[in-house]
Amino acid sequence: MKLPEMFGENVFNDSVQKETLPSDVYKALRATIEAGKQLDVSIAGTVASAMKKWAVSKGATHYTHWFQPLTGLTAEKHDSFIEPEGDKVIMRLTGKSLIVGESDASSFPSGGSRATHMARGYTAWDPTSPAFVKEGTLYIPTVFVSYTGETLDKKAPLLRSMTAMDKQAKRILKLFGKECKKVFTTVGPEQEYFLISEEEYFKRKDLQLTGRTLFGAPVTRGQELEDQYFGVIKPKVAEFMRDLDNELWSFGVLSKTKHNEVAPAQHEMAPIFSTANTAVDGNMLTMELMKKVARRHGLVCLLHEKPFKGINGSGKHNNWSVNTDTGFNLLNPGEQPETNTLFKLVLTAVIKAVDDYQGILRASVASAGNDHRLGADEAPPAIISVYLGDQLGALVDSIVKGGNYVGGKKTQSSIGVPESPIFPKDATDRNRTSPFAFTGNKFEFRMLGSQANVADANICLNTIVADAFEQFADELEGAKDFEKAANSLIKRELKAHYRIIFNLDGYGPEWEPEAMKRGLLNNKNTADAVPVCYEDKNVEVYVRQGVYTREEAIARADIRLENYIKIINIEALTMIEMAKRDIIPSVSDFVAELCSNAAAKQAVFADLPMDTERELVYKLSALNDRASAAVSKLENDLKTVDKSDVRGGSQAMAHVIVPDMEEVRRIVDEMETLTSADYWPYPTYFDILYGVK
Ligand code: ADP
Ligand code: MG
Repeated sequence: MKLPEMFGENVFNDSVQKETLPSDVYKALRATIEAGKQLDVSIAGTVASAMKKWAVSKGATHYTHWFQPLTGLTAEKHDSFIEPEGDKVIMRLTGKSLIVGESDASSFPSGGSRATHMARGYTAWDPTSPAFVKEGTLYIPTVFVSYTGETLDKKAPLLRSMTAMDKQAKRILKLFGKECKKVFTTVGPEQEYFLISEEEYFKRKDLQLTGRTLFGAPVTRGQELEDQYFGVIKPKVAEFMRDLDNELWSFGVLSKTKHNEVAPAQHEMAPIFSTANTAVDGNMLTMELMKKVARRHGLVCLLHEKPFKGINGSGKHNNWSVNTDTGFNLLNPGEQPETNTLFKLVLTAVIKAVDDYQGILRASVASAGNDHRLGADEAPPAIISVYLGDQLGALVDSIVKGGNYVGGKKTQSSIGVPESPIFPKDATDRNRTSPFAFTGNKFEFRMLGSQANVADANICLNTIVADAFEQFADELEGAKDFEKAANSLIKRELKAHYRIIFNLDGYGPEWEPEAMKRGLLNNKNTADAVPVCYEDKNVEVYVRQGVYTREEAIARADIRLENYIKIINIEALTMIEMAKRDIIPSVSDFVAELCSNAAAKQAVFADLPMDTERELVYKLSALNDRASAAVSKLENDLKTVDKSDVRGGSQAMAHVIVPDMEEVRRIVDEMETLTSADYWPYPTYFDILYGVK
C-alpha cells in the first residue's frame, strides 16, 4: 500500500467519520471537535455503532477506554464487544460505553485527592482525539476523573488549559478585530531515544529495573569526535526506523524526521506538530510503539533521560505555538514585527508568563531521570530563560531601552560557487543552549525529559500564558486609545520581565552567576524544584484559569515528589543488590585469582617479582573494602529516610541518598577499569553502546 493510503488506516479519523456517520451526526461531532461545542449526547449511540462496525472490519474484538493516569504512562482495560443473543453473540458498543466507563481508581496515584474508600473513577470520552484500532482493540481516548469530579489524569487538565487559552486568546484577537471560532495550542514534540541490543539489556539488572545504568566506566570512544550526530544510520537501526514509521503513520502520527543523535546508539524522531492534545496522545503512542517495534528487531529502546553517564542524555523538545482555526499563528512575527502590535503583545505575554511562573514551569519538567540532564553540561541549565535571537532581541531592547530598531531584513546567501543556488537566510541563527527559545513562529521548550508525558509542560505553559492574556485583555478592553495603551503595556511589561531574556550561551560559565544576580531560580533537582508548586501564587494561577482546583494542584505536587522518592529508592536498592551480590564478590574472586597466581609463581620461581599482582591486589582489595563501606552507608541512610513524608523524604533522597549513590558508583566504576573482563559481571559501556552491529 502506498503511504498516502496507509496513513491513518487504523484511525477513526475525519474521513472515516464522514463516510460512516449520517450527515447530521457527523456535523454535530465535528462541531464539538472543531469549534469546541458541547457534545450532543444523543449522537453517542450512532457514533458508537459506526465506530464498532469500522473497528470490527479492522479485526477488532475488544474496546478500551485509553487514559493517562498520574503514573505518567497510559492505562487500558479491554472489554470485548460481545453480547449474548440466544446461544450466539453479537458485537455491540453502546453510546453509554463509548462516553463513559467506570474504573477502580484506588490503585492509581491520586496524591491523596481521593480517599481509598471512594475508589470509583470514571473515564469519559475525549472526542477531540480520534479513536484507533491496535492489536485487535478499539482504543477510545478518554479523560479520567473521580466520583466527585476531581481529575485523576493528565488529559483533563490539558483540555482545560486549552480551553483557558482559547477563551483568553480570543479576547486578545478581538482587540485587533480578528475573529475566529477556536484557538488551539499546537505542539510538536521531538523524541530522543537510545537503541541497544536485547542481549546486553537482559544482562543488566539496572537497565531492566531502573531504565538506566547505575554503574559503568566510560567507554574509550564516546561522542568526542562529533561523528554520530546526523551520521549514517546503521542498517539494523534503519530497519527499525522504517518499521516504526509505518506503524506511526498507520495510527495517524505525523512522523517526519529521523536521524542519529549526538551520542553513540542515540536517535531522534520528530513529528509534524498538531493540536496539543492529539500531539500528547501521539507522543504517548510513539513511546509505546518505539519500545514494541524495537523488540521485533532484537533491540531495546531506552527512553530514560540518562541511560549512560558521560555521554548525552535524551530529552524532548516541545515546540509550542498558538493558532486559530482560520490558520493564523499568533506567534508569527510577520515581515515587520516592529509594527505588528498583536505579535508584540503575544510575545510580551509569553515573556511575562515565563518570568512570573518560571518556578512551576521548571517543576513541570522535574523528575528523577531529568535531574541527570538539567544543569549537566549537555542540556539546558536548570535556570529558565527566554532566547529571542538577534532580530527580536534587538526589537525588545529598543522597546525597553529606547533607541532605534533597525529591522533585520531576510538576506540571501550563497556558497560562492556559480552553480549552487542562492538560498534565503533565516533571520535568526539556531541556539541550542536555551531552555526556552523563540524559533521563527513558535517557542521551543527544551527542558522536557525524554520519557515524560508532555502534557505536564503544556498544561503549565497554556495556563500561565492564558493568565497573562487575561490580564492584558482586562486592561486593554476599555482603553480609549487602544494602540497607545497596548504599546505602553508592552513597554511596561517587557521592562518588568527583561531579566528572563538571555540571548547568549546558556552553557557558558558566566550565565549561572549572572542569573543569580538577576534573581532567577536555579533549582537543580526535583526535590528542590517542586516545592514552589505549593506557593499560593502558583496554585492560584491554576485555580484562576480553571485548570486545577487547589486540591488538585497540591495533589500533583505531592505525586511528583512521591514518585521521585520511589524512583530514587528503587535505584538505591538496585544499586545495593548489584554491588553486594554481583560486583563485590566478583572483584573478590578476581583478587583471589591474582593471589593464587602469585602463589603459583612463587612456588615455582621464588625469585620472580610480582609487582603487577601485588599492585592490583592491594588496589582492588582497598577499593572493594571502600565499596562495601559505601554500600553500607547507603543502606543505613536509606533506612532513615521517611518515605511517607513527601517534603522531608524527597529532600533526604536528593541531598543524602543521591550523593551516597554517586560515591558507590565512583568506587565501583574505578574497580571496573582494573578488573579482568572475564570477571566483570555485567556488559560494559562498550558492549552496550556498540552492541548494535
Ligand atoms: P527547527 O528546525 O527550528 O527545529 P522545524 O521546522 O524542524 O524547526 O520544526 C521542529 C518541530 O517544530 C517539528 O516537530 C515541527 O512540526 C514543530 N513545529 C513547527 N511549527 C510549529 C507550530 N506552529 N506549533 C508547534 N510546533 C511546530
Ligand atoms: Mg528543533
